[in-house]
Amino acid sequence: MTTRDRLRIAIQKSGRLSEPARDLLARAGLSFRESRDRLFCYGQSLPIDLLLVRDDDIPGLIADGVCDLGVVGRNVLREQALERAAAGKQPAFTELRELGFGGCRLAIAAPSDAGIDAIGDLAGRRIATSYPQLLRAWLQGLGINAQIVVLSGSVEIAPRLGQADAICDLVSSGATLVANQLREIETVLETQAVLAGPVLAFGDERAELAELLLRRLQGVLTVRDSKLVLMQAPRDALPELLRLLGDADVPTLTSIEGRSEDVSVQTVCRGAVTWQRLEDMKKAGARGLLVVPVERMLA
Ligand code: ATP
Ligand code: ZN
Repeated sequence: MTTRDRLRIAIQKSGRLSEPARDLLARAGLSFRESRDRLFCYGQSLPIDLLLVRDDDIPGLIADGVCDLGVVGRNVLREQALERAAAGKQPAFTELRELGFGGCRLAIAAPSDAGIDAIGDLAGRRIATSYPQLLRAWLQGLGINAQIVVLSGSVEIAPRLGQADAICDLVSSGATLVANQLREIETVLETQAVLAGPVLAFGDERAELAELLLRRLQGVLTVRDSKLVLMQAPRDALPELLRLLGDADVPTLTSIEGRSEDVSVQTVCRGAVTWQRLEDMKKAGARGLLVVPVERMLA
């Protein structure tokens, strides 16, 4: 591995993952100077630079040591890992952590009139996909023998063109499937954007930079859904309130001057604090409920 004192992160140049990736890095305190060729962005706040590329190139760039980390869909990362393994190559990149955006699933779908209603019906059929390795591994695991038709794009029209009986493609809302008269049958892989990195640890300054980045990402991602919840309540309502605050940190309780039967409660909730939950808390005796977004968190 080459020695470098700056960390280089590859992200998608344009597509579904580019804006959320840039936004996440900005929230982690990274800022960049845009270059004219739009390939390379120089890191200003930290020695961490950006490389803007096609998402499919990211695993290979990490394997070749051209970049150190990458933001890429788990679907792309796993597909290329299986491809390397099939070619007898050593693993070179790995998933370091989920990033909480770009969520979708790789799923099997078929025309409603294809007679494919369950996984078992796929035996002997042709399935079109851009993810042959993931599909092959999944079929193998289930002991199903089917023919894989590899297509690089527009997989959803393959059944209508007579190229395949079913498809294995990325689905989020399912609108594309409906528009193509396809019915979803089974999920092959749940995927989302992940931070990818090399299998081998960095042997220089990059190790510390990567650690710093991971710590900050941890902070940003926990904060994203966290809310500070404040209220006052009678002490005897606490057991019920704590039950309603199930996903919260251990609350800080403060006594209120001159009102020994009441207590002030402060806690951080990790999940959605819905109106329903607030109304339940009010019913349980809470007063002056306040839900405040959390800006930063450092554990
Ligand atoms: P590139 O030009 O970089 O190769 P692309 O066309 O391969 O772009 P996008 O369509 O932007 O890529 O998708 C990038 C990633 O976004 C996918 O690999 C997947 O992980 C994620 N994704 C999230 N939702 C969806 C969806 N509904 N369809 C396709 N991909 C999705
Ligand atoms: Zn791509």
